[in-house]
Amino acid sequence: MRYDGIAASPGIAVGPIFCYQHEEYAVRDTPVAPERVGEEIERFHRALAAARKDLARLRDGIAAELGELEAAIYDTHLMILDDPELLKAVEEGIRREGRNTAWIFRGYMSAAAARLGQVQDEYLRERRADLVDVERRVLRQLLEDAPRALDELPQPSVVMAHDLGPSEVAVLKPGRVLGFVTEVGGRTSHSAIVARGRGIPTVVGVRGVLQHARTGDLGAVDGYAGQVEVNPDEETAGRYRQRQAMLESEARALVQLKDEPAVTLDGRTVELGANIELPGEEEQALEAGADGIGLFRTEFFYLGRFELPTEEEQYVAYRGVTERMAPRPVIFRTMDLGGDKVASYLGASHETNPFLGWRGIRFALHHPDVFRTQIRAIYRASAHGRVRMMFPMVSNLDELLSTTRLCVAVQAELERKGVPHDPQLEIGLMIETPSSVWIADVLARHARFFSIGSNDLVQYTLAIDRDNERLSHLYEPLEPAVLRSIHHTIAAAHAAGRWVGICGEMAGDPRTAVLLLGLGVDELSMTCFDLPRVKAAIRSVRYDQAREAALAALEETSAAGVKALMRDRLESHLPSFLVAKRSPL
Ligand code: PEP
Ligand code: MG
Repeated sequence: MRYDGIAASPGIAVGPIFCYQHEEYAVRDTPVAPERVGEEIERFHRALAAARKDLARLRDGIAAELGELEAAIYDTHLMILDDPELLKAVEEGIRREGRNTAWIFRGYMSAAAARLGQVQDEYLRERRADLVDVERRVLRQLLEDAPRALDELPQPSVVMAHDLGPSEVAVLKPGRVLGFVTEVGGRTSHSAIVARGRGIPTVVGVRGVLQHARTGDLGAVDGYAGQVEVNPDEETAGRYRQRQAMLESEARALVQLKDEPAVTLDGRTVELGANIELPGEEEQALEAGADGIGLFRTEFFYLGRFELPTEEEQYVAYRGVTERMAPRPVIFRTMDLGGDKVASYLGASHETNPFLGWRGIRFALHHPDVFRTQIRAIYRASAHGRVRMMFPMVSNLDELLSTTRLCVAVQAELERKGVPHDPQLEIGLMIETPSSVWIADVLARHARFFSIGSNDLVQYTLAIDRDNERLSHLYEPLEPAVLRSIHHTIAAAHAAGRWVGICGEMAGDPRTAVLLLGLGVDELSMTCFDLPRVKAAIRSVRYDQAREAALAALEETSAAGVKALMRDRLESHLPSFLVAKRSPL
C-alpha cells in the first residue's frame, strides 16, 4: 500500500518496519516467583528513594540557579512519588499478579495518565506530562540503564512513529535505522532536520500510516519523492532497491570533490559550512569537504537530559569540535530552546503558540546565569581554534545589545582571570524574523556577521507553522516575500561591510543554493549530506549567470514563477543528476 507524505530527508530505504510507541524504555513483562516477591518490593522502594534523591538534587540546583518559581514543577513531581496510593497499588500489584515491578508500575502510571487525559479541567489534563516524567525517572532507576526501545531494534529497520522529538531523533543510529517515517511534522521540523543530518531517508506527515503498518512488515521509503510503501510487491521493492543503488554510486562519485573549493566557473568562491547538532558530527563535516561548521545547534546539549550541562562539560565538547575543525571556523549558535525544543527542567510550560513564544534569545536572556555559563564555555573554546558565536531569533536591537553586554562582561572576566580565549571572537546574529530583516542596517552596526535562518524566516514571514503538515504545501522558501527579505538583508549587511551566510534548509538544495549565490551570499551552511551536491552545483555554474537569474527572480510575483525561471535559466547548467525530479524543494 502506498502513502504520500512530505519528503524530509533524501535517500531510499527498504527493510523491515519497526513501529515505535512513545516510550523511553522497553519494559518487559517477567514473572516473579512467590519467594522473590519481597525482594521485588524492596527494589521498588529503592528505585523510589533514588528517584526522590535525584529529583531533590535537581530541584535545589534549579532553585539556586533560576529561582523558586522555576523549581516548583519538581515539588509536584516529588508529591507524585510520595503518593501513598501509588505505593499501595504497586506493592499489591506485584503480590497479586506475581510480575516484575517495572511492568506493574508502568501499568499503574499509564492508567493514571489516561484518566487525567480525560478530565475536563485543562490544568489537570496538563499534569499528565508530569506523570509521564516521573514514570520515566523511576523506570530509569528500575531498569538501570536498560537499552531504550530504539537501541533494541532487533535488526536494521525502517522506524515508523506518530512523532519523535528532536532529542530522540538525535540518538538514532544511521546503521540501525534505515529509514524514518512519522505521521506528523514538516520538512523543517527539528526532528526532520536532525534525521537529514544523520543521513537517514525520511518522510514526515504520512497520515494514518500506523493504522496499517505493523512491526515486521516490509517498508520502503523514498525520501526524495516523499513516498512510503507498506508491504510493497516484489517488483515495487525491486524498483526502490535499484534507485537506491544508483544514488549510492552518485554519492561515491561526489566524494572526489571533497578537497576542492566551492568556486564557480568564473572564479567566485563561497564558503560551504556544515550544520551539526552534536559534538562528534564534525567528522562527517570533514568527510563531506566542509570549509567549517556554519551552524552548531548547541541546544541539543540541553535536550534529552534531566539537568543543566555544566560549563566544563560544554567547554570540553566545544573545544573538541573547535580543535578538530581548526583552522576552519566553527559557528556556535547559542542555545535556541523553546518552540519544539523543550528542556522541561528549565521551567518551560505549555504555551499556546510556542514558536511565537518563549524561544531563542528571549528564553536565553530570561535565564542569564545559564546563558552566561554557555557564553563562557564558548569563549574558552575559542582559545583552541577559530570560533564564532551567534544568537538565534533576535527580533529587536535591545536583545542584541543585552546579549552583547553579557558577552563583553564574560570576556572581561576571563581577561581579568587570565583564562585563555580569543578576545576578537567574531559575534554575529541570525536573521530569522521579519523585524530583524527590516532593521538589518541597524543590527549590522553591532554585529560582525549575519546568518539567515531561513527555516524560521519562512515560517515568520509567511505566517506558516514549520511543524504543521497540513500547511506544508504553503511553506515555500521560494516565495518572492522570502527572496526579497534575503536580498534586503544581504544588501544591508554588505553596505555595512558585514558578511552574510544562510544556514536554513534552503541552502542545502543545489538549485536554490545557486540562486542564493546569485543573491550575493558569502556563505552557505547545510547538512553534511547535502554539502557535496551543493558543491557540485556551485562548481558547475558561472556567478554572472546565477546573479542574473537571481535578480530576475526578485521580479517574479509567485514561487511558481521563480521555479519556472530556475528551470529555464539555471538547470541546464547543472549536472543532470542534481536536478532530476526528486528534490523536495
Ligand atoms: C533556521 O531557522 O533556519 C535555522 C537554521 O535554525 P533552526 O532550524 O535550528 O531553527
Ligand atoms: Mg531557527
